[in-house]
Amino acid sequence: MRLHRYLAVLCLAALAACDDSGPKARAAKVLFIGVDGATWDIAGPMMERGELPNLKALADRGFVAPLETFQPSLSPVIWTTIATGKTKEQHGITDFVHGTAHGTEPVLSNDRRVRAIWDLLGERDVRVGIVGWWLTWPAEVVNGFMVSSLSVLEAGLWKGSAYVGMPRQIHPAAWSADLDRLVEAEQKRAPETARALFGNLPAGFGTAMQKRVILDTESALLSDQIFFESAKSCSRREPVAFLAVYCGIVDVASHRMWRYLRPKDKPQWDVPLADVDALGDVIPAAYRWVDRKIGELVAQADADTLILVASDHGFHAEMRPAMSDEERSGGHEFALLPGIFVAAGPGVRKADLRRDATAKLPSVYDLTPTVLHVFGLPRATDMEGHVYVELFTSEWSAAHALVPEIATYETSPRPTVAITAEERAAVAGAKDDILERLKSLGYLGGK
Ligand SMILES: [Zn+2]
Repeated sequence: MRLHRYLAVLCLAALAACDDSGPKARAAKVLFIGVDGATWDIAGPMMERGELPNLKALADRGFVAPLETFQPSLSPVIWTTIATGKTKEQHGITDFVHGTAHGTEPVLSNDRRVRAIWDLLGERDVRVGIVGWWLTWPAEVVNGFMVSSLSVLEAGLWKGSAYVGMPRQIHPAAWSADLDRLVEAEQKRAPETARALFGNLPAGFGTAMQKRVILDTESALLSDQIFFESAKSCSRREPVAFLAVYCGIVDVASHRMWRYLRPKDKPQWDVPLADVDALGDVIPAAYRWVDRKIGELVAQADADTLILVASDHGFHAEMRPAMSDEERSGGHEFALLPGIFVAAGPGVRKADLRRDATAKLPSVYDLTPTVLHVFGLPRATDMEGHVYVELFTSEWSAAHALVPEIATYETSPRPTVAITAEERAAVAGAKDDILERLKSLGYLGGK
């Protein structure tokens, strides 16, 4: 009996020792909104004109800068760097798809070789919520919730989404039925949501190609609507200290609609005036729509939350070889274009570095180390990025000294999610399924 009790005490002591081994997080709250493809070239003037009131309110009380990035500017690659602070060689995500024993497949959450910010925080008892982030299917087992994003390229849908009945889309799995209901409801009211971007569109408008790019844009908008609504409802259900939400509509609209917004950007474009009238406002409307969503998330956050808004790269007129300019007139693939960065909240310095040629700018590599610092956790020296100390006031920095760096957080394999053969088949089958569903909803062939 005594021996048992002695052993039990020993076991407890061993567990406690394990707990003590790593650095501990301090209390903080961060809301991180990723806006793929947002560029100062468009957001800046719109902000000045009062068209993006929520972003402007953050900028007015906080920190504004270009965000340095790298090439190739492929979304899965950069967003994984943002979430890890590591190079593509380190995190292992170099493209949308990769060859596997089962053929060419979309890159999945298990393919990331290193821990993401949500792992690092979650493993140190910080509650996290991750919504719509690239390469998060199957949903990872996080300390909080994750609404995953699955990109089904074969269906022509570049940005990931959530789908009714798809397995492993959400952690905790017990929330699956609620997610299905939310997705179904949003699919039903997708035409209403689309009016925010395509309200001006005359009935039956467009060539076959224009109809296709409109569909593409509407699909991305539907995905974002699902993700923003999930983020709001999940974080109401379970408040978290770190909430990260990704949206792709600005990127998709900018690729598809640039020539209608700025028809003079390329001399070879000869855009009919009727097209400019019909589609010229889609990109600004996408920015306004995202700004409203930012406002809704900020309104739901506690007042002492650090708000971060970032894009992975900027945008300009750019045609992709082998694509018609009706299909793709804006891009970022062949030029190094900085993204946007806006921050506001406790400790954030008031500054605007957009016209400061000498300032040290933040980079996509720095976001994870900087968020770690906010939670009192050290940067690891195997991270490419650094804590962007320029973001903070000197008072805040004096009260929150940098924690000595550690060599790595990767002292054990990162947790992955086992995928069954049926689940793999569900992903493969998703393509036809999704196309069918879009058709039945009037998305394909109807317009
Ligand atoms: Zn893009």
